[in-house]
Amino acid sequence: MPAMNRPAEIWPMNLFKPSAISYQLSAQGVATGFSLRKLSANSDHLPAGSRQIKIHRARWVFPVSSAPISDGAVVVADGRIEAMGRFKDLKGTYSGDVVDHREVSILPALVNAHTHLELAALRGRLSGKDGFVGWVRGLIKVREDILPAEIEKAIINELAAMRQRGVGLIGDVGNTRMAYELCQKQKIKTIFFREFLGFNREKTAKAKEMLAETGKSHEADDSFHVAAHAPYTVSAELFSALKSWANKHGKMLSVHLGECPEEQELLAHGNGSLRDLLRERSAWDDDFIPPGENAVSYLDKLGILDSNTVCVHLVHLSEEDMTILAARGVKCCLCPRSNLFLNVGFPKVEKMLAYGLYPALGTDSLASNESLSILEEMAAVRKHVPGLAPEKILEMATLNGARALGRKDRLGSLAPGKKARMISVPAGGEGSQEVLEGIIDGAATIPVKWIQ
Ligand SMILES: [Zn+2]
Repeated sequence: MPAMNRPAEIWPMNLFKPSAISYQLSAQGVATGFSLRKLSANSDHLPAGSRQIKIHRARWVFPVSSAPISDGAVVVADGRIEAMGRFKDLKGTYSGDVVDHREVSILPALVNAHTHLELAALRGRLSGKDGFVGWVRGLIKVREDILPAEIEKAIINELAAMRQRGVGLIGDVGNTRMAYELCQKQKIKTIFFREFLGFNREKTAKAKEMLAETGKSHEADDSFHVAAHAPYTVSAELFSALKSWANKHGKMLSVHLGECPEEQELLAHGNGSLRDLLRERSAWDDDFIPPGENAVSYLDKLGILDSNTVCVHLVHLSEEDMTILAARGVKCCLCPRSNLFLNVGFPKVEKMLAYGLYPALGTDSLASNESLSILEEMAAVRKHVPGLAPEKILEMATLNGARALGRKDRLGSLAPGKKARMISVPAGGEGSQEVLEGIIDGAATIPVKWIQ
């Protein structure tokens, strides 16, 4: 029986009901089971043996690293992307299972490039009404009252919620091992940044001891990296120690940078409400000599900024700062809804793009956000930067995230050789731009399905 005429099998479990249809297809019209043959004269592309193949067809395919494809398809062989293009072009080239998802858009899995899962139990417990430093003070206090079992449960729930909203890769920052260990058992790939703080001599020495101890057991773990909390909580000596450990072991270093105006006050003049907070916490260094310059120049002079450094927030950036960050190839991550929650400003997204930076998106923690949904971060960018093309916003939420987490070669876009970590969302609208706008505008409720 010709393959196209065989009865269609509905797969309601993973696909939009009732539109997704799966069937066997071969160019010769013969059922091929799960074998794949690329029907090409080019033997370089012939698979070595029998492989499991699926051809995922959809109204739109958004590869991100190349132009959107109408009536597109993604060919997946053994969990990796083999090809993508127009369905009509691919169907004559590849044979295997065709899964027709019909009126949906296929996108790469989203990336939450910066969060703190260990704060997952803090949703709704804090507000930004007392300013940034008041919020930090509240966070320290509230955190002390939460039991480990409560934190564990919240982390597991939030990991599930993120997956449900299409997140397939996370950059997680933590002061404890709990989230790191829980993430090992999950389907979402997590890049973990062990965070260190230490502003005065005593706390710097303790942090360096901890780095030596913790770092040793994770030297070979390519998911383990380090974070320096921020220039107002990490001494120059600790920054240098963290960066030199990272360089030695081929690791990334993450840092909160330019999140609040108070940081600038401390670095320029050595005073302000952050100094008061450090004093309250017995963390202030009486010998601190303010570098007298802004955070980007300060870290640049310390040798911290390079392509293995991930700078997070970047709300308070001058054009000179952007020039430095671009010249050093620094990775950037923005957390727009957290910035709005804390009322610290909004990152200059268009300018950053114009300066050759590739901003990723993160949610930061539930201490300063209502959810860990990257779709909703995309919606916040669209709302506050209405002139920005929706394709750029999708790129921020996918490819730039993978780039920021050192996974650009494996994830973040649909391209041959990459992992087939893909989601589908309904595709309403005519052209690709209208379809993407609809997805972003519907961020809060749009149904998301994983393509298996
Ligand atoms: Zn953060």
